[in-house]
Amino acid sequence: MSADDPSPTVAAPPWAWRARILSALHGDIPHLPRFAGELGGTVVVLYHAHEVTNGWCPGGTLGEVAEFIRAAHDVGLKAICYYDSTLVEERFPRRQRDRWAKRDREGAPRAHQPWHLRVRRHVMCFNSPWSDHVARVAADCARVGADGLFMDNPDHCLAGGESCFCENCRREFRRRTGGDLFEASEPERAEWMGHCYGEYMRKVRDAMRDAGDEDEPVVTCNVSGDSAIADPHRLRPYQNVLFRETFNRPGLGGWEEDLEMDLLGQMPVWSILTELPDNPSWHLPGRAAAELEPFLSRALEAGVCPMVWTTIPSHDPDAPGFTGHSLLEDEALAAVVARHFRGRDGA
Ligand SMILES: [Zn+2]
Repeated sequence: MSADDPSPTVAAPPWAWRARILSALHGDIPHLPRFAGELGGTVVVLYHAHEVTNGWCPGGTLGEVAEFIRAAHDVGLKAICYYDSTLVEERFPRRQRDRWAKRDREGAPRAHQPWHLRVRRHVMCFNSPWSDHVARVAADCARVGADGLFMDNPDHCLAGGESCFCENCRREFRRRTGGDLFEASEPERAEWMGHCYGEYMRKVRDAMRDAGDEDEPVVTCNVSGDSAIADPHRLRPYQNVLFRETFNRPGLGGWEEDLEMDLLGQMPVWSILTELPDNPSWHLPGRAAAELEPFLSRALEAGVCPMVWTTIPSHDPDAPGFTGHSLLEDEALAAVVARHFRGRDGA
């Protein structure tokens, strides 16, 4: 098989098929026995990056990441590290940022400021050495025991409405297709970028496998909405878990419409319900529990592995990251999660 062919479909580790997933912060280390015991969690996704972050995920050191993973493993939890696969902030070294940036038609690097942050995010092109950089970060995580990597924000490489026109993309497009990137239609470019994202995931997975003990580390990316890049079917040969972030959208159909039910059974499907940004009410007593109850019930019934925010994410640009609202202090929410995670298949 040549390097240009999609890799064969990759297997998921057995534990990924029956995952009950909780988000975690480094400060949650003392609570991990409760995650695995009372709450019935089997996997934690750690939001604590030892390398450049995106202005939202808390940052720290590799030693702290290692400390967390050891504590998770001690109580039988698998640990997945969060990393932004597309965006960096100002602290990322300027020289690399400029050389590895996504570029528009005129050759200008792309940046944007999301509504929920005060910082500018620089969009990186994964056909540049940025993908090698992320593979090194992933290998660091694997070396300290990570069981996988969760790659966020793949669709942001279309931020600005068009895909990338950097010299790496132009050269790679010509090499693979014989065509000129500028002459292709945007749907053609977006589909091609989707395959490139898959190759990027393969690079990350190979780096983790070489550096760590896991033969099949979980490598997945955040699919939310109808992303032209992270189409779950196109990425099927490259990722071993499908991860869907979903939302309750009144009048527009619920989270169930987001799930790729035809892929259930072919690969583990992990899904998280996130509070809608314009309805930040999950801190109200009982509210998060009330919204998560039907989500957890129907997800498990359908064979989907649910993930729950242990700490509710913030939508406040003046307080990026996470709120102070945690299920560890919300008895109603903890009871709902424990009942579903520890029931039937999760027992
Ligand atoms: Zn590019």
